[in-house]
This record gives sequence, structure tokens and C-alpha cells, in this order.
Amino acid sequence: MARYTGSVCKLCRREKQKLYLKGQKCLTEKCPLERRNYPPGQHGVNRRAKISEYGVQLREKQKIKRIYGLLETQFHNSFEKASRQKGRTGENLIKLLERRLDNVVYRLGFAPSRKSARQIVRHRHILVNDILVDIPSFMVSPGDVIKVADKSKKLDMIHNSLKRMKDTNMFSWLSVDKAQLTGTFLQVPERAEIPLNANEQLVVELYSK
Ligand code: SF4
Repeated sequence: MARYTGSVCKLCRREKQKLYLKGQKCLTEKCPLERRNYPPGQHGVNRRAKISEYGVQLREKQKIKRIYGLLETQFHNSFEKASRQKGRTGENLIKLLERRLDNVVYRLGFAPSRKSARQIVRHRHILVNDILVDIPSFMVSPGDVIKVADKSKKLDMIHNSLKRMKDTNMFSWLSVDKAQLTGTFLQVPERAEIPLNANEQLVVELYSK
């Protein structure tokens, strides 16, 4: 499976916004964006060109794609799926992205970032309804129980990540049992409940061109 292997902090600098791709580091002053809030590259600091409508839509798509850690084809496939569903395509897209297993593992606090969550899933540390699932894009459904596998219950990364989680009831659509390293996906969240500072309608406009 292809994946982005470059510097993820550069992606935040490109979007001039924290995308929280590196876990704990994002919350400290070590975050490069605290010092250099301008796009990377030789001309980044002086770049003042007026951005076109297309440019705005493209940047918003790139931002959402990067937040959820997807490559273009994966993101476009999710969009296609969202557009075949009833309702507003943009909202459907965000709901689909939220249902990805790697995202749910991250939201449950079992991993400090979506990237780490994907690794945990791929390395066969996660069960869904007592069945081992190692596919990060697996769609979690209401009622599904996500568990850390017995053999993985001592993993420092999972415990450290949970320790840093201030509030286990941060998301109304999830319930977490820190002691049992278990979580339940209660329902698909409404768009308004999802903490994502992005305008998905711009993605719809971009792909409709
Ligand atoms: Fe983005 Fe986190 Fe890197 Fe800061 S530390 S630039 S928020 S990935």
C-alpha cells in the first residue's frame, strides 16, 4: 500500500495550519508551525500571490486529505462513495472518513496520531467484534466494539497515548474503557459533532468541475 513518506510537518506548513499529524509534538512548542507559519520552500515566506477560487478549493481538499492521512486515489474513492449515498456529499464524505478504523483507533485514544493508529492496525494489534482486522480503511459501524488484542495490551505506545487523553468522553459517538483497552462506536456522528476545521463543500465544488 502506497503511503506518504515525506516530512509531515511540511504538510502543515503548506496549509499554514496545524493538522495535528505528529501526536504529542503538535501540542508543544517543538511544533515547527509555532516558529515558521509560512509555506516551505525558498519562496514560502514571501509568497503573497492572490489565490484563485480553484486554489482555495484545492487547498481545502489537500488539507482534509492530509488530516485523515489519505493519498489522492483513496480520498477520491471515498468521495465517489459519498456521492453515491443519500444526503449532502460533503457531509457524507467526512462521516465516511470518521468511520475508518485507523481514525476510530486514534479518536479512542489508543494512538497519538492517525499515522500511528494506522501502524497499530496494520501490525495486527486491533480486533473489531473479537475479529482481528488489519485494514486501516475498514469501515466501523454503529455497535462495533474495538479492542486492543491481548498480546498487545502491554504496548507502551497505547498506554502513553491513553494517559495523555484528558477526557475519555470527548466524543459523543464513542465510549472508551481505558482499563480494558476497549471502545465502542456508538453511532455515526453528525457533521456538527466532528471536530474538523474544514469546509468540505469546497471539495464537492472542486470535484464537480
Ligand atoms: Fe503539524 Fe504537528 Fe508538525 Fe506541528 S508538530 S507542524 S501540528 S505535524
